Amino acid sequence: MRRKEFEVTEKDRFDEILAEAHVVRLAFFDQEFPYIVPVNFGYEWQEERLFLYVHGARQGKKLSLLKENPKIGFEMDCRHKLITADEASKYTYHYRSIIGQGVATILTDLERKRHALLKLMEHETKRMDFDIPDKQVLGTGLIQIEVKRFTAKERI
Ligand SMILES: Cc1cc2nc3c(=O)[nH]c(=O)nc-3n(C[C@H](O)[C@H](O)[C@H](O)COP(=O)(O)OP(=O)(O)OC[C@H]3O[C@@H](n4cnc5c(N)ncnc54)[C@H](O)[C@@H]3O)c2cc1C
Repeated sequence: MRRKEFEVTEKDRFDEILAEAHVVRLAFFDQEFPYIVPVNFGYEWQEERLFLYVHGARQGKKLSLLKENPKIGFEMDCRHKLITADEASKYTYHYRSIIGQGVATILTDLERKRHALLKLMEHETKRMDFDIPDKQVLGTGLIQIEVKRFTAKERI
């Protein structure tokens, strides 16, 4: 990172960004140009490994692309604030963000899918005590992304 003073290195602060961000932008390899899709997400740490979970339809362009190449890029951000000033050149913008890469898997196992859906619910509601019928779990597309590396940055 060029501006080292903005780099975030503490795990607690990564967790704050993960908790505060509600949209992750996923980038897929496509034939001619990258394909970027914004989606909501859930997440969890399994010891030192970070997993993101994404739900949606069981078909579509992002699923077709990741079947061809499961490597994805991602970005999420939060704490947006415009900082005003007397001169245009002194205006700035505050933010916290994470950029990373990972490997995506389309989940098929019922209980792993349910767990992923509950992690999404937990992120949005802070609750995991939802009773989701098997039919709904089976009817939902679920992607697990194992994060291979990421960096975090904040300007606040
Ligand atoms: C804030 C936010 C949160 C979202 N959360 C979710 C989520 O949790 N789960 C989920 O599945 N979807 C979510 N969406 C919708 C998501 O961005 C995609 O539209 C959706 O997942 C379908 O993607 P796909 O690749 O299967 O597209 P397809 O239905 O296969 O369509 C592909 C075509 O549609 C265009 N397209 C697809 N999505 C968009 C878009 N968002 N904006 C403009 N053009 C688009 C593409 O450029 C491409 O040409 C969210 C969107 C936003 C803005």
